Amino acid sequence: MKSLRSEIAAITLLSITMVSSLIMWFSINVYEELYHELVSDELSSLSQNLADDLLPVINESPGAFSVTRILLRFDQYENVEFAKVFDANDKLVNAYMGKAVLDASDPSDISLADEALLDMDFGRHMQDGFIYFVKRIGDPDYPQGKLIVSYMVAQALAGSQSKLLASVVPFTAVLLLVTVIFVLELQRRSLRPLYVLINKMRGIEVSKDYDIAVEVRGKKEIVDLTQGFNSMMSDIARQVEMNKQKNALLIRQQEQMEELANFDSLTGLPNRQFLMKCLSIEMARAKRENRELALMFLDLDGFKLVNDSFGHDVGDKLLCHVADQASDCLRKGDVLGRLGGDEFIIMLSANPLIVHIKEVAQRLVDKLAQPHHIEQWKLDTGVSIGIALATDCRYDLTKLVANADIAMYRSKQAGRGQYTLFTQAMQDDNRRMMFIATSIMQAIDNDEFTLFYQPKVGLDGQIKGFEALLRWYNKELGFVSPGEFIPIAEQSDKVSAITEWVASRVCRDLPEILATFGQDVHVSLNLSACDLANSRVTEFIINRIQNLGMPTTALEFEITESAYLESFQAGNVFFEQVRNLGCKIALDDFGTGYSSLSYLTEFYIDTLKIDKQFVSQIGSSRRSELITITIIEMARQLNLTVCAEGVETSAQSDFLTLQGCDLQQGFLYGRPEPLRTLLTNHLTHSTIAS
Ligand code: C2E
Ligand code: CA
Ligand code: CA
Repeated sequence: MKSLRSEIAAITLLSITMVSSLIMWFSINVYEELYHELVSDELSSLSQNLADDLLPVINESPGAFSVTRILLRFDQYENVEFAKVFDANDKLVNAYMGKAVLDASDPSDISLADEALLDMDFGRHMQDGFIYFVKRIGDPDYPQGKLIVSYMVAQALAGSQSKLLASVVPFTAVLLLVTVIFVLELQRRSLRPLYVLINKMRGIEVSKDYDIAVEVRGKKEIVDLTQGFNSMMSDIARQVEMNKQKNALLIRQQEQMEELANFDSLTGLPNRQFLMKCLSIEMARAKRENRELALMFLDLDGFKLVNDSFGHDVGDKLLCHVADQASDCLRKGDVLGRLGGDEFIIMLSANPLIVHIKEVAQRLVDKLAQPHHIEQWKLDTGVSIGIALATDCRYDLTKLVANADIAMYRSKQAGRGQYTLFTQAMQDDNRRMMFIATSIMQAIDNDEFTLFYQPKVGLDGQIKGFEALLRWYNKELGFVSPGEFIPIAEQSDKVSAITEWVASRVCRDLPEILATFGQDVHVSLNLSACDLANSRVTEFIINRIQNLGMPTTALEFEITESAYLESFQAGNVFFEQVRNLGCKIALDDFGTGYSSLSYLTEFYIDTLKIDKQFVSQIGSSRRSELITITIIEMARQLNLTVCAEGVETSAQSDFLTLQGCDLQQGFLYGRPEPLRTLLTNHLTHSTIAS
């Protein structure tokens, strides 16, 4: 790109050259005019002088030397072409030829012929680069002849001009050169502040430091420019500073948003979304490197109980405490995150060995089994862990998490507070569980459920009541035990529909049972923990009882100790209501759960059911016998009815009768049967007896 400096220099040079050329041209013109004037005046007076001098000698004989001598005075004028003297009759008297004519190749070749010369008037004539002077010799009244002089003015001028140029041009050139140098230097000085500005700007381009001021000096325009530049720079610096602050704010906000989006606000651990992102990256990497990746699924045991009993504040603190303790058990690089609720995920860093995974899992189980001190409370919650390996699910993230979840449920089922490593068999079981879970609602609609009743016998050997037990036959699954489908229904929130169905069926069957077995018998039905917490179910049951239209003292609800504890407050509300309606409550499977005796005073219960695990060991385990004796004795002290379940042998029956157990239930007295069978059998029995 052409620089401003070179452009100004070019313009300056051009201007100087033009101006000097004009001056030269003008000078030469003036010189030409002056020259003409000078030469004319000088030659005119010389010619006049000579004409005067010729008067005395003109009439001498032609070719007389005196005329020639006078004419020779023209010799000192280099550019005189000729001088001719004519007498009064226009006859050539004498002629002088100048040097130029004599030196020419044809000396007779002159600018004008005599006739043309003689036609000219007296005076001065300019023609084709020649000046002709026509002078009269003698008095105008008595003219004696003419002197005609021709001067080669053009040639003379050309010679003079070249002399002039030869002397002027070198001087002018030097002057021009000096002027140009001077102008360029001047220009350099004037433009220097501009270059300082340019350099500063280039520096800023690199350094991005806009907080810069350039010294204000130079000519007005440069000063204006510099001031403008400085104020622009300070504006930019201010803007840059503001932008920096805004950017910092944006970055902070973005970080906060990322924090909110990716981290759990309670524990500060990565949340589900972020965990899944990390996991999918890690899975892809592990797959590429063909190495193992282990995932642990943690679920706190009894967290709901803590939340319900101690409030959400304590629950939240427990979660944070657990998060801290769990991360203490991990190594740098292991990832711990919260899936939600009381569920956590751990991804173990690079290529874990099974031994190591198990070690970590055991460490977590042990550590989290320790009592947690939250506020003034000492909370006993543990953790159930499921472990899954990436190679087992061909690096499919969704499957990996699902497998770990399945394994975790195994830990729960196996009694909580432990870890389980996922196996393929579990997945098959899980598929069955899923199938069961999705078939339950259909089973109700298709009438696949039936209610069986198992008798409970008193000390006198008479039937005192029945326990309603659910049976399910499905075309694809065959007979499914309630021991299998009830827990699945509980986990998939479908148990309430079952309970409602059972309650309706019991209420429907009750009048017939009472009519057949006497008004004193009772019918018990089983409830799940979720039923107590579900007001829709409890209202449904109460509504059914109220619509029975008969004494409701015949109804009993069986609930396990752990289920009662799980929905303690809601349970108490419900049981108080149904007790007011005359119903009874039995604590099922007593001896297998927490069995904290202090609860017994807080529960609304009428009956303790001794679990069949103790009954089945009567005769073989003294310990079980002692527990059975103790439970019966305690029930008596607390004024509770006691019922032993799973009585299969006469020995067990005798032992229980001896201890004064109020009721016995078991295969010895009858298996659970459909109502029709029970009624028919009873009818047959009564007929035979009578
Ligand atoms: P549970 O309440 O402890 O019921 C007693 C279980 O012991 C029944 O198993 C019964 O058939 C079985 N049993 C009775 N006598 C004997 C015996 O002499 N020996 C042996 N080995 N077992 C005996 P079932 O019917 O398979 O029920 C299993 C569990 O399923 C029940 O345990 C109960 O917790 C649950 N369940 C059954 N029906 C319902 C229901 O309608 N609702 C709810 N929520 N749970 C139910
Ligand atoms: Ca029961
Ligand atoms: Ca039981």
